[in-house]
Amino acid sequence: MEFRLSDEEEAFQTAVRRFGDRVLRTHERQIDAEGEIPDDVRHAMAELGLLAMPVSTDYGGMGASAVLTELAAEEVGRGDSSMATAVFFLLEAGWGYIFDRFGTEEAKREVLPSVCAGKAFLGVASTEPTGGSDLAGMHTTSHRDGDGFRIRGEKAFVSGVEEAKKLGGGHLTLTRSPPEGFNFLYVPTRRDGISTQKFVNMGRMGISTGGLSYQDARVPPRYLIGEEGKGFGVAMQGFSFARSLVAAACIGAAERALETGMAYIKERMAFGRPLGKFEGIQFELVDLWTQVEAVKWQCRRAAWLLDTYTLKGDHSHRSEVDRAVASVKLMAPPIAFEAVKRVMMWFGAAGYTKDVGLELGFRGVMSYLVGAEGGLNIMRIIIGRELLGKEFVPYK
Ligand SMILES: Cc1cc2nc3c(=O)[nH]c(=O)nc-3n(C[C@H](O)[C@H](O)[C@H](O)COP(=O)(O)OP(=O)(O)OC[C@H]3O[C@@H](n4cnc5c(N)ncnc54)[C@H](O)[C@@H]3O)c2cc1C
Repeated sequence: MEFRLSDEEEAFQTAVRRFGDRVLRTHERQIDAEGEIPDDVRHAMAELGLLAMPVSTDYGGMGASAVLTELAAEEVGRGDSSMATAVFFLLEAGWGYIFDRFGTEEAKREVLPSVCAGKAFLGVASTEPTGGSDLAGMHTTSHRDGDGFRIRGEKAFVSGVEEAKKLGGGHLTLTRSPPEGFNFLYVPTRRDGISTQKFVNMGRMGISTGGLSYQDARVPPRYLIGEEGKGFGVAMQGFSFARSLVAAACIGAAERALETGMAYIKERMAFGRPLGKFEGIQFELVDLWTQVEAVKWQCRRAAWLLDTYTLKGDHSHRSEVDRAVASVKLMAPPIAFEAVKRVMMWFGAAGYTKDVGLELGFRGVMSYLVGAEGGLNIMRIIIGRELLGKEFVPYK
């Protein structure tokens, strides 16, 4: 058992951390204020190979492993603690991988190079106005119609709707394919029969969230991802990858908050001594650091499991992979939120200001507590199902 990063992984991590320090930290306030990731930041990410990095080199990616992608997610979350850049990063990575693995050759050649170059957006659309947790209960349909599919329905709370309109690109869209089964389809946003709506979020302002409405929108057969009628399982593999990256980005944000807090409590004096000398503060730091460290290594293990089994098409360890991924998505967001909140409190009144900047992480990490990439109770349901058996799932 080897608990060390390889030389290649360490070198890559160092390069992405340097990028995070030099580019993301210096832009995070602008990203939050202006509501978008500036073109030069996106292009710099593309140059470093960070966009859709697991996509194979044939289509413009770097064919990165899940472990390498996980390390990058940590650094992107540490660099822009608003989480906007991390969301952009992880959507392109997770769903770019799925497109590469299950898309048709023609569609991959058409779409993926622009996504990897930062010239088009790629995300996922599964949630509907009636709910996101009960995916099997969705209403949006896709019917075979002439040469292609006709889509009717509505998606909600979808990340990157504005980006896909502005840059081009679209979403891998989960639809019901009557009488039974699901089609997973790449749906470009700039298409007849599609209208969009923008939602106003409280955080991660640099990436939009919105609704998509499909009024008999048509897509060609080459946009089918995986086999017809079998899209649900493909989408679940994408969620596994994306959830492990969400957790990694939260770990990066938590480490950044703790580093900020440690520097502060070594200097800030109260009652004639630095705050860090008071056990009330020091022990909080130790408890948080311990939890962050534990989840970080579980994240890396989840990525290793994905590399070793799922991403190779080997589902013999599905239960172990599902438990590992769901456990990090369950633990990382609340721990990151707690770390950011505690450090804000160490700063006292200054922690409540935008100057210190911890509120960026406070608002950003919250998105993963309310539900982005799956609610915490859904992670509990997945782990419970794997521990006790399917008959203990509390719904049909
Ligand atoms: C900022 C942001 C970005 C997002 N981006 C995307 C995106 O790009 N694409 C996309 O498709 N979706 C996206 N989502 C939506 C996200 O996937 C959903 O929020 C999530 O799946 C939960 O669905 P819901 O919000 O409809 O909540 P509901 O399904 O209505 O659930 C509400 C609450 O009840 C809990 N709950 C549900 N069922 C159970 C149960 N059986 N037992 C116990 N508790 C339960 C949930 O955990 C949640 O806390 C995004 C969400 C946010 C906040």
